[in-house]
Amino acid sequence: MTTWLDVAADLVLGATCPGCGHPGWGLCSACRGALARDSPFEVTRRIENFPAATAGGVYERVLRRLVAAHKERGARQSTGALAELLAGAVALHGDGPVTLVPVPSTPAAVRRRGYDSVHLIAAEAARRLRHRGVDVGVDRAVRHVRRLEDQAGLDTAARWANLRGAMVARHVRGRVLVVDDVCTTGATVAEACRALREAGVGECGAATVSATLLRGHR
Ligand SMILES: [Zn+2]
Repeated sequence: MTTWLDVAADLVLGATCPGCGHPGWGLCSACRGALARDSPFEVTRRIENFPAATAGGVYERVLRRLVAAHKERGARQSTGALAELLAGAVALHGDGPVTLVPVPSTPAAVRRRGYDSVHLIAAEAARRLRHRGVDVGVDRAVRHVRRLEDQAGLDTAARWANLRGAMVARHVRGRVLVVDDVCTTGATVAEACRALREAGVGECGAATVSATLLRGHR
């Protein structure tokens, strides 16, 4: 669905493909083809509180640029493509009712972009899955309890120190999947799951649009 916001974003971005920068309207066919070749996979990280996790595609090339454009440059026209990948990651966890809990964006990031990127993708993924008969909702049950440094540019140890105890959650009934646009070290997802478990959530997994491959995982 193209909204006036997409149109405005295209005007701002000069109507280029957010995946490769070629002139045109929205995602070009080559980038669409590249995304269609991605398939969801299991994500493992050997860190405390990291749950059973899946991702819709590998965080590289087209997908990496799309995630960045959506998050930082207001490329809302790729919401559908990213949501489709997230839907694939959610489906890998099996059927049955599930609540998607987006990792919280910092207020500063939402102000900068004008929207909450992860929540937007989660809501669209849920809409598409409901269309396919899956019982899925979205609940912003996790929030920050203190101001965070920007995670980008921090190494794993520094991310941990930045994130530990940074989130708090409300209780959510039933099965929960923490969702995010990308899983790199896994620290964000792990912290969100820690907060949810502390709030009494029994079954907490994670599904992300994309994830980096660990060295040697090819
Ligand atoms: Zn393209």
